[in-house]
Amino acid sequence: MVAARSGCSATVIDSGPAVGGQYYLGAQSPEGGSGLSYAALRRAFDGLVAARGIDLRLSTYAYALQRHADGFVLRTRGDDRHRHRVSEIGARTVVMATGAFDRQLPFPGWTLPGVMSGGGAQALVKGSGVLPGQRIVVAGTGPFLLAVAYALISAGGNVVAVVEANEPLNLARHARAALPAAGKTADLARFVSALARKRVPYLRRHRVRRAEGLDRLESITISRVDSEWHPVSGTDQVLECDALAIGYGFTAQTDLAGQVGAHMRIGSDGGLAIAVDDRQRTSIAGLIAAGETTGIGGVDLARLEGVIAGVAAVEHCGRRSALSESAIGRGTRDVARLRGFADALHATFPLRPGWRADVDDATLVCRCEEVSAAKVRDAVSDLGALDARSVKLLTRAGMGWCQGRVCAPTVDALCGFDTAESLIGGSYRPVAVPVPLGAIASDRMSP
Ligand SMILES: Cc1cc2nc3c(=O)[nH]c(=O)nc-3n(C[C@H](O)[C@H](O)[C@H](O)COP(=O)(O)OP(=O)(O)OC[C@H]3O[C@@H](n4cnc5c(N)ncnc54)[C@H](O)[C@@H]3O)c2cc1C
Repeated sequence: MVAARSGCSATVIDSGPAVGGQYYLGAQSPEGGSGLSYAALRRAFDGLVAARGIDLRLSTYAYALQRHADGFVLRTRGDDRHRHRVSEIGARTVVMATGAFDRQLPFPGWTLPGVMSGGGAQALVKGSGVLPGQRIVVAGTGPFLLAVAYALISAGGNVVAVVEANEPLNLARHARAALPAAGKTADLARFVSALARKRVPYLRRHRVRRAEGLDRLESITISRVDSEWHPVSGTDQVLECDALAIGYGFTAQTDLAGQVGAHMRIGSDGGLAIAVDDRQRTSIAGLIAAGETTGIGGVDLARLEGVIAGVAAVEHCGRRSALSESAIGRGTRDVARLRGFADALHATFPLRPGWRADVDDATLVCRCEEVSAAKVRDAVSDLGALDARSVKLLTRAGMGWCQGRVCAPTVDALCGFDTAESLIGGSYRPVAVPVPLGAIASDRMSP
C-alpha cells in the first residue's frame, strides 16, 4: 500500500485464495493487534485494488526468483488445480513476505490421525469453524499455544490441558524487553484469563512423550521435564484425548531470498532468517524482506515491518514515500521495540535437546517418504554421511511433497548437523514450491 500510494506500480502475489496471511486468514474485520485496525487497513487495500493502484494476484505461487540487470524476474504458477499455468513478472524491487510454518518435532505416535500442528488446529477453527476433536490437548512451547487454546475455547472446544515444555515465568527475567510491548502482554492476559475461566490446566515444564491409539489418537503420555527437556522419572501422566494440537514455534520461509543469494542469519529462536538492515533491505540491492521471513516475531511486528519495507521499496525506485520522516522514524523504533520483545519470548521458550531421546528407532522422521529415525541415524553411523545433503541422498528424508520443510530441522538435530553453518549452507533451494517439470519447460521455451 505504501508503494502504491507513493505512485509506484505495485503487484501483490499471494498463494492464498484471499489476502490477510496466516493471522487474518482472509477475515474482513477480526480484532487487530497493534491499534492499526485490520478492517480499516483492508478497506484501504481493497480501494487501491479497485482503483487499479495494486495488481492483486491471488492463488498464485512464486516458485523462483532471479536477478537481472534492471531488477528481478519472479516466476509463478497457479494453485493446485492450475499448476501448469506459469508466468513471469519483472520487477525493479521485490518485497519478500512469505511468512512461516509450524515447527514440528517427531515423537512416537505423532503420525496418528488426530495429532496435528497448532497452526493446523487454529486454521480449522478460524478458517472453517470446525473443531479438531471432542477432547483436545494443546502442547509444545511458546505463547502461540495460548492463542491456539483461546481460539479453540472461543469456538466452544473442550481443551483438556495446555502442556508447555518451558517455564513461562522466566519471562520476568526479560521484563525490560517485555514491558514496552504492552499490547502483547494484554493479549497474553486475555488468553490466560480465558483458560482460567474454563479451568483448563496449564502444565508448565511438561512435554508430550508419546501419542497412543489403535487407528487414531486415544491418549497421550506426558512427563514433567527439567530445563533441558529431559523427563523427570516417576512423573508420567496419561491424558485421554482425541485431538492433539502441537507446535514448537515456527520456521521462516526464506527460499526465494536464498535463490538470489541474500545473506541469512540465525534468529534468536535458533531458526534461519533473512538478514535485513533497519529499512528491511537485504544484502541484495532491491530485495526487501518483511514479517516472519526476517525472524519470527508475530503479527504486530510483521505489519510494522511491512510498512517500513514499503518505504524502502519506494526509495529503491527513486521516489519519495508518502510517509513522513517522523512516521518512518516512529515505525523503525517500534520495530526495534517489538523485535526486543520477540527476543525475550524466544529466550523464555527455547527449544531444548531433551526431546531427541524420545525419538526411538521406529519413529518416522520424514512422513512424506516414510523414513524412520533408525535409517537417518544409520546414514551417519554406518554409511558415513558427513552432512545433511548426504543423509537426504542416502535415505530420501526431505525428498517428498514438503521438500524437507517439516523434517529437515529434525534430521539436522538427530545427526548433529544443526549448526549455524549447516542451516545457512542449506538455505539454497532452486524451486520454492512444487511445480510440474512440464510447466517449467514450457515457461522456458515460450518466446
Ligand atoms: C499456522 C500459523 C498460525 C499463526 N497464528 C498466529 C497468531 O495467532 N498470532 C500471532 O501473533 N502470530 C501467529 N502466527 C505467526 C504469523 O506468521 C504472524 O503473526 C503473521 O501472520 C506474520 O505475517 P507475515 O506477513 O510475515 O506472514 P503470513 O501472514 O504467513 O503471510 C505470508 C503470505 O505469503 C504467502 N506465501 C508464502 N509463500 C508464498 C509463495 N511462494 N508464493 C506466493 N505467496 C506465498 C502466504 O500464502 C501468506 O499469505 C501464525 C503462523 C502460522 C504459520
